[in-house]
Amino acid sequence: MPTYSYEHAGKAAGCKLGPAFEVEQPIREAALARCPECGRAVRRVITPGFGIAAPKSNADLKGLGFTKLVKRGDGNYENVTAIDGESRIVKRGDARTLPHLRKKIRD
Ligand SMILES: [Zn+2]
Repeated sequence: MPTYSYEHAGKAAGCKLGPAFEVEQPIREAALARCPECGRAVRRVITPGFGIAAPKSNADLKGLGFTKLVKRGDGNYENVTAIDGESRIVKRGDARTLPHLRKKIRD
């Protein structure tokens, strides 16, 4: 399954996923219109080095501080770049399962 990069169309302040995030989804599935975490508008971005052109491994993304979500059959997302203390499964509306953005900001 290809991985797509998304960014919030407007302010992402307060969103646990940060300004940009990645989602692995079936190629036939429509681009997400809303952030799976905060519900605000997002747009798919094609960035050299990211997305379908040159997929990065989950470990690479993790090292770069990206959060990558993989949608599961039950409608929840799996955080495949989860770091220590983060839940692997992101359940909308359950704050305990959201990625901890602050741990990933290094500067
Ligand atoms: Zn968001």
